[in-house]
Amino acid sequence: MGSHGHAQPDHDHGGHGHGGHGHGGHGQEAPKKGVTVRVVARPQSLAQQSFLPAVIEGLGITMRHFFRNTFRREYTVTVQYPEQKAPYPERFRGLHRLMTREDGSVRCVACMLCPTVCPAHCITIVPEETGDNSTEKRPRLFEIDELRCVVCGLCAEACPCDAIRMDTGVHMPPVYERGDAVLGKEDLLRQTARSSAHQGHAAVRDRVVATGGKPDGGHGGH
Ligand code: SF4
Ligand code: SF4
Repeated sequence: MGSHGHAQPDHDHGGHGHGGHGHGGHGQEAPKKGVTVRVVARPQSLAQQSFLPAVIEGLGITMRHFFRNTFRREYTVTVQYPEQKAPYPERFRGLHRLMTREDGSVRCVACMLCPTVCPAHCITIVPEETGDNSTEKRPRLFEIDELRCVVCGLCAEACPCDAIRMDTGVHMPPVYERGDAVLGKEDLLRQTARSSAHQGHAAVRDRVVATGGKPDGGHGGH
């Protein structure tokens, strides 16, 4: 059963007598196993057989869109970059930046969590001692190869002291040499100075403003 070509309506297998399969119909076949086969007649007229009316109709639609987009920008979604910019989603991850403390020193304590978690192995840190027991270490060298970075955001997630962020709202600028895509500590600190993003969570900022900048047990132990 089932090997008699059910999709061929011209075959009359009515003599098989297998109830419910109804092979005898020309044109319309009875539903089989929940599937209805609809036979579409071949185009009869010469115009239909040449497909010219359909082609002309299609060209007409194309030309209508072309002229409306050219003169009235009716359907176009083109953004005139860089004069115009498409709005980024709230969770857009921009270029990295290294955060600083109030005294201007880098917040990073060279704990090595971010290079450990980085799936692209694009963070290089060489630590050095600070001579201060409260922080112990800081990065002597901190580099990120932005060409290898897959913008996953894990480094920012892993950082225990909010030292690295991806909220600059900007992309990595184009470079001519691969080496220029490796951002050093100073480059990443400069991004913080340039950043248009707010530093600190809005709720924390509001609390700092409300307490006049006095520590209230919140984030920022380093
Ligand atoms: S965003 Fe992901 S890939 Fe890029 S540096 Fe951070 S952890 Fe590595
Ligand atoms: S996780 Fe944060 S503190 Fe640790 S090395 Fe990375 S940036 Fe520095």
